[in-house]
Amino acid sequence: MTRKIPEAGIAILDALCEIDYRDEVSPPSRAEILKAVESVDAIYCTLNEKIDKEVMDSAKKLKVIGTMSVGVDHIDIQYATSKGIYVVHTPGVLTETVADHAWALLLATARRVAEADGFVRRGEWTIPWAPTMFLGYDVHGKTLGIIGLGRIGQAVARRAKGFNMKILYYDIVRREDLEKELDVEYKSLDEVLSESDFVTLHVPLTPQTEKLIGERELKMMKKTAVLVNTSRGKVIDEAALIKALREGWIAAAGLDVFEREPLPKDSPLIGLTNVVLTPHIGSASHDTRNRMAEYAAAGIITVLRGEIPENLYNKEVVKVRAPSELKML
Ligand code: NAD
Repeated sequence: MTRKIPEAGIAILDALCEIDYRDEVSPPSRAEILKAVESVDAIYCTLNEKIDKEVMDSAKKLKVIGTMSVGVDHIDIQYATSKGIYVVHTPGVLTETVADHAWALLLATARRVAEADGFVRRGEWTIPWAPTMFLGYDVHGKTLGIIGLGRIGQAVARRAKGFNMKILYYDIVRREDLEKELDVEYKSLDEVLSESDFVTLHVPLTPQTEKLIGERELKMMKKTAVLVNTSRGKVIDEAALIKALREGWIAAAGLDVFEREPLPKDSPLIGLTNVVLTPHIGSASHDTRNRMAEYAAAGIITVLRGEIPENLYNKEVVKVRAPSELKML
């Protein structure tokens, strides 16, 4: 277990396994990971630890990787599958919490909440109610563009109905089954970008989605548009976004994820007033972090019992190594 996680997850593993638990909030170094995995049957990690070919080759007995995240871009899935290593993650249990956070960023950015909060705290509020002070953008009745209509994208769409928004979406898989239920309209990526007042990203980070939003795409958006990203930082070309925010190609952005995390102290984003920045806390509620900790742990236990867990990510792995071959509990 690479780092400190909520107690609920530890308890599940502790009851049945011997745990090499690294009781640290910060992630381990690469050297620590390579050494620690040598004799383990399972790795319990978070999205900060890169679990690649070298790590998997160092872990000679490795049967299962459990990640306390829904995103698996830090794990070489293809290689894990080829070696018969099961990968379990935490889909579903964080969906509503991340959608809440995307919504928090969207509202905070549109209505300049963080900027206005700083203004009050710094003692700059010296004129009472003023007709033109801190004008932002309406959210209700506007057009929302959702890129990636998976679990979290759908949860964001449900929230948007309460704000009486028109909803457009783009996904590599057209979801006709959901279009009526969620009242969402399928459009090309370019159409979603050019027609929406708010664009929110909910795709996984893959080679196809890396820099999905770059200079071309940002220039296509409305000058009054707000971009929200709670997916992965690398889905946006951050240098292009900084240019867009500085030069007014778009109005503002609400960001929970960044190309480099922690965000470097000298990032130009920090000096911009038209961004709201949060430190990758999309799923950070007490309840959800407990559920994530438990779900990843339960997935590991299920694999070590020789069964297929519902939160298995690389489902095709069962053809490489049958679950019964992994039974040790
Ligand atoms: P999901 O798999 O349910 O949904 C992803 C959607 O993206 C799917 O509908 C898929 O078809 C679509 N997609 C994939 N590749 C695409 C492409 N190239 N172009 C367009 N659409 C594409 O996943 P989810 O549970 O909704 O989570 C989405 C992502 O959110 C995760 O992969 C993770 O990276 C991120 N996330 C971030 C936080 C956070 O703390 N900020 C928390 C949870 C998840």
